[in-house]
Amino acid sequence: MANTYACSDGTRVDQKTIDYRIKKAKAQKKIEFIDEHGYLFCEDCERNDCKPIDASHEVSVYEAKKTGRTELCWSVENLRYRGRPCHQRYDKLDVQFNPNRV
Ligand SMILES: [Zn+2]
Repeated sequence: MANTYACSDGTRVDQKTIDYRIKKAKAQKKIEFIDEHGYLFCEDCERNDCKPIDASHEVSVYEAKKTGRTELCWSVENLRYRGRPCHQRYDKLDVQFNPNRV
């Protein structure tokens, strides 16, 4: 049986379900963001030339699974747009605090 990860409400999900829900959350984030701002930009530096832009997790997928809050993986509120330069800067900071992060 595949590994499963706990959500705050006690339910458990497998990685396939997590991946699918993350995909849906990212699509939803894009709809809401475009709806509000009209275009995509990096939320860290607020520039639209900070590219390529991707939705990154505030609480990482690893951290969410480890702490039994797997639902944060697909929470739109837990997603933030970052361009690659800001994303790498953020991940580097995170790795310093949390060397076991994957
Ligand atoms: Zn940026």
